[in-house]
This record gives sequence, C-alpha cells and structure tokens, in this order.
Amino acid sequence: MSDAEKIDSEERVSRRSILRSATGTVSGGLLMYILFGMLGRGKNFLKPPGAAEDEVFNSLCIRCGKCAKSCPYDAVKIADIDEGTAIGTPYIIAREIPCYLCEDFPCISSCPTNALDHTVILREQVKMGTAIVTDRESCLSLNGIRCEVCYRVCPLIDKAITLETYRNPRTGRHAIFEPVVHRDQCVGCGQCEYKCVLDRPAIKVLPTKVIAGKVGKHYIFGWK
Ligand code: SF4
Ligand code: SF4
Ligand code: SF4
Repeated sequence: MSDAEKIDSEERVSRRSILRSATGTVSGGLLMYILFGMLGRGKNFLKPPGAAEDEVFNSLCIRCGKCAKSCPYDAVKIADIDEGTAIGTPYIIAREIPCYLCEDFPCISSCPTNALDHTVILREQVKMGTAIVTDRESCLSLNGIRCEVCYRVCPLIDKAITLETYRNPRTGRHAIFEPVVHRDQCVGCGQCEYKCVLDRPAIKVLPTKVIAGKVGKHYIFGWK
C-alpha cells in the first residue's frame, strides 16, 4: 500500500471512530443526515457489476451483502455508518481492489433481488462507471515517458482504451503515447486506476453521470 493509500485508509478509520462515538452520545437521524451531507462520499462510489441507476438500484437492493460475500477478490465492500450512503450498500473502490470481471459474475448470480441485473452475462454489458485521465500533468505517458500501464492492464485493451501517438512538442523528436479512454466501450472495472504507477492515480473511474456532459436537443450532429 502506498503512503497516500495508507493516509486515506487511516483517515477513514479515524473518521469512523469519531462518528461512532458521536452517534453513541447524540441520537437521532438529524446528526447522521448532516454528517452524510458533509462527507458526501457515497455519490462517487462504484456499484458492483450489473447494478442499475441509483434510484432503481436503491429500491431493489435489500443490503443483504451476498454480492460482497460471493466476490472471490473481496472487491465488493459494504457501506458502514460513515460512508455517505445507506448502511449495507455494496460498493467498490477501484484503487483498493478493482473488479476483475469474473467470467461467471458470482456477485450478480448471488443477488436475490435482481438489484444486480441477472441478464448481464458478458463483461461488455457491464457499466460500473467510466475511466478518465483526471491529471494529464502527472500522467507519465503524457510527459513523454513510456508507461502505458493503464492501457496494458485493461481487459478491453484497444477497445475501452487506446494509445494515440503524436510528436512530443517538448523535445520535437520523441513520441507521446497518450492513453485515451472510449466511454462507449469502457465498463468501469477500475483495473487501470488500480494499476496506475503514480502514488495517486492520474486515471480514475467515476460514475459515468459524474463525468458525462449532456448535449442540448437543439444541437444536431449531422454527420452521425
Ligand atoms: S465480477 Fe468478480 S471481481 Fe467483479 S465484483 Fe463480481 S465477483 Fe467481484
Ligand atoms: S446481493 Fe443484491 S440485494 Fe444483496 S446487497 Fe448485493 S446488490 Fe444488494
Ligand atoms: S475502467 Fe479502465 S481498465 Fe476497466 S475497461 Fe475502462 S479503461 Fe479499461
């Protein structure tokens, strides 16, 4: 675990103990509501493969934890009291353990309520989120250093993520190999974020609605 990850993990533990002691002395939903609002972490969690949009998923998921128990990689975590979402909600933090897109999707088949859609049987059907290079200035590849780890580890290499090459303007003679994510193909498994060699990843996977823009109806792409 890198220093940055250790700090993040320690912060989470201490925040959890503070919250536990606070809620032990002050009862009532108001405190939790305020704290969840302040933390606001839940909104960017990745849900397990096959999960529907928030509203549908939240109405179907009974927080039984079977998906987490069935995951052979322990990728699926269960929300605790301070995670900014309903207690018991399953989620994935790609930088800690990504989804390895198991061939038989045990998480999905163990879900008793179809909150994880049982019709999802191929990895191409999964849509947990979308990867995005969030820090172009730190990305080694974009600095002209041959890295491309995120590209190499992608289970949908050359579909979800490709390398675009062009001349390095800094040296004028070397090449840049830029990792480019294709939103329509990326399934959001998080393996690129997990393997990014930086102390803090330059590529992250976020819920697609967080990063996606929306084109107004009055714009017509005549070439599509
Ligand atoms: S597909 Fe496999 S690795 Fe991914 S969450 Fe499900 S059980 Fe875990
Ligand atoms: S198995 Fe299904 S219902 Fe149970 S916690 Fe996971 S998603 Fe929710
Ligand atoms: S999240 Fe990353 S590794 Fe997974 S499909 Fe998308 S680009 Fe590939």
